[in-house]
Amino acid sequence: MTTKPVLLAVNDELPLLSAIERDLRREYGADFRIVCATSGSEALATLKQLKLRNEAVALLLVAQHIQEMTGVEFLEQAMDLFPDAKRVLLTASTDTDIALFAMNQVKLDYYLRKPWDPPEEQLYPVLKDLLADWQVAYRPPFEGLRLIGHRWAPNTYRMRDLLARNQAHVQWLDLETSEEAHRLLAALGSETLPLPVLLFPDGSWLADPTPIAVAEHFGHALHAQLPFYDLIIVGAGPAGLAAAVYGASEGLRTLLIEREAAGGQAGMSSKIENYLGFPAGLSGAELTRRALMQATRFGGELLFPHEVTRISVEGSTRLVHLADGAVLSGHTLLLATGVSYRTLDVPGSERLQGAGIYYGAGMSEAKLYRDQDVYLVGGANSAGQAALYFARYARSVTLLVRGLSLEESMSQYLIDQIAATPRITVLTSTRVVEVKGEANLEAITISNTITGETQVLPTSALFVFIGATPQTDWLDGVVERDEHGYILSGLDLLQDGHRPAGWTLERDPFPLETSVPGVFVAGDTRLRSMKRVASAVGEGAMSVRLVHDYLRGL
Ligand SMILES: Cc1cc2nc3c(=O)[nH]c(=O)nc-3n(C[C@H](O)[C@H](O)[C@H](O)COP(=O)(O)OP(=O)(O)OC[C@H]3O[C@@H](n4cnc5c(N)ncnc54)[C@H](O)[C@@H]3O)c2cc1C
Repeated sequence: MTTKPVLLAVNDELPLLSAIERDLRREYGADFRIVCATSGSEALATLKQLKLRNEAVALLLVAQHIQEMTGVEFLEQAMDLFPDAKRVLLTASTDTDIALFAMNQVKLDYYLRKPWDPPEEQLYPVLKDLLADWQVAYRPPFEGLRLIGHRWAPNTYRMRDLLARNQAHVQWLDLETSEEAHRLLAALGSETLPLPVLLFPDGSWLADPTPIAVAEHFGHALHAQLPFYDLIIVGAGPAGLAAAVYGASEGLRTLLIEREAAGGQAGMSSKIENYLGFPAGLSGAELTRRALMQATRFGGELLFPHEVTRISVEGSTRLVHLADGAVLSGHTLLLATGVSYRTLDVPGSERLQGAGIYYGAGMSEAKLYRDQDVYLVGGANSAGQAALYFARYARSVTLLVRGLSLEESMSQYLIDQIAATPRITVLTSTRVVEVKGEANLEAITISNTITGETQVLPTSALFVFIGATPQTDWLDGVVERDEHGYILSGLDLLQDGHRPAGWTLERDPFPLETSVPGVFVAGDTRLRSMKRVASAVGEGAMSVRLVHDYLRGL
């Protein structure tokens, strides 16, 4: 529920302040919150708190003679915080000159002479007009999180992206363009805080926070609730989420660990159109929201944001080591860590990551490029989906494709939609060979792979979708992987009919079982997986059945 806008009265004569409060409450209490202060500094401190809580202030009603500063001096400072609030000065009959001066100095809307009895004649008609005027421009304040920072600062982008991927309701305030951002920093008492600053609806805030600090602020459990689990799942993409739903629903003590954002790659998809049961498609964010609700409803536990850095084995116990040093144990593990985007290998690209060069869809950025020209690199479905999404906002979208045609790498339904979107241009046989810019991306150089012709294109946005690889080095020496890092399972582990080294059981590995008994793998990180949402979900679900089989043998 939106909180009522505030009417602030300031006067150091207590009987008079009580009278003002009573008069204001009687007439305006239903629609406004009446707040009183007895000095200028108390009133300014109150205004700062209101600013941080994103509450609206409609009226400042201040006596000229108050402690510590004059009413005009107070209004001068209050204007910096709430420039749109109506300003009324309460004056004595000798203060007319001051009031007239204040009309210009602090753009005073009105001055009232004390006493104003009866209020029905002397006070309410004036305030009624002012408040009606204020209401015309009033927009109820945003009630979610507010993030203040510099658009091109990579750590600000990372936080913006993290919040977007975790489906937080966030208002982005860019210090280059937003006066409100400066007002908020002033209310925090420092323009030199480490950025970005994240403000919560209750007025609390964090400067340059870590993901863990944000999660803690939201009240997420940062530690596992149980000493031992039947199933610990690493990675909350579609495979991990499906395993959590099936594991928890079948009574297994199930823990799901995620380092960034539930949903994994699928969470970055603007529209998944080929997932069974959703003929009109659904966004990755929606799929994730539903899956998380389902998993937790069945009693699955989510530990987030935590990175798993190692796994180990002690007898029949499987151990998971977290980046913060915590160690969790269970009977079985599922590795559902998916794949991570491949980065562009051209001069300058590393430095400009998050400052114009974005990986993994950059969905949080699309709206910032309204009416601008953006470039996307990649010819697979993820690039196609993103091109269609960006075309909703950008003036033009150019898709740079290395292959001879999109048909080589993209589903036909996306090719058809791209062809039907005039804002999207596709340049085939094209590679990005250089990126330019100091603080942020300013231009890219592209080269035609057939003619060798190069071209410099000015742009501040390059979104890169050039495939992904598993990041599984942390599993080195524990489970068997191929030369690209994909994890081997089931029959792939049998070399000439021989079981993997160190395998002690009297049976072959189960289909999704790795070279370590009781440690399973599902989804994109598995060798020979299909790289689709549906197949990741299928493997996640199937792994739970195999976990049951394994547990029966313990
Ligand atoms: C933009 C985009 C659009 C796509 N669109 C479609 C589509 O329309 N249809 C379709 O079928 N497929 C689509 N895909 C592919 C699909 O999203 C993937 O195949 C699917 O997400 C794979 O699921 P997964 O659970 O195996 O892995 P991922 O989705 O990659 O999830 C793995 C998760 O594990 C976490 N993780 C990794 N390492 C660790 C660690 N050490 N500790 C803790 N957590 C860790 C990651 O943060 C991540 O959240 C798309 C992919 C992208 C990028």
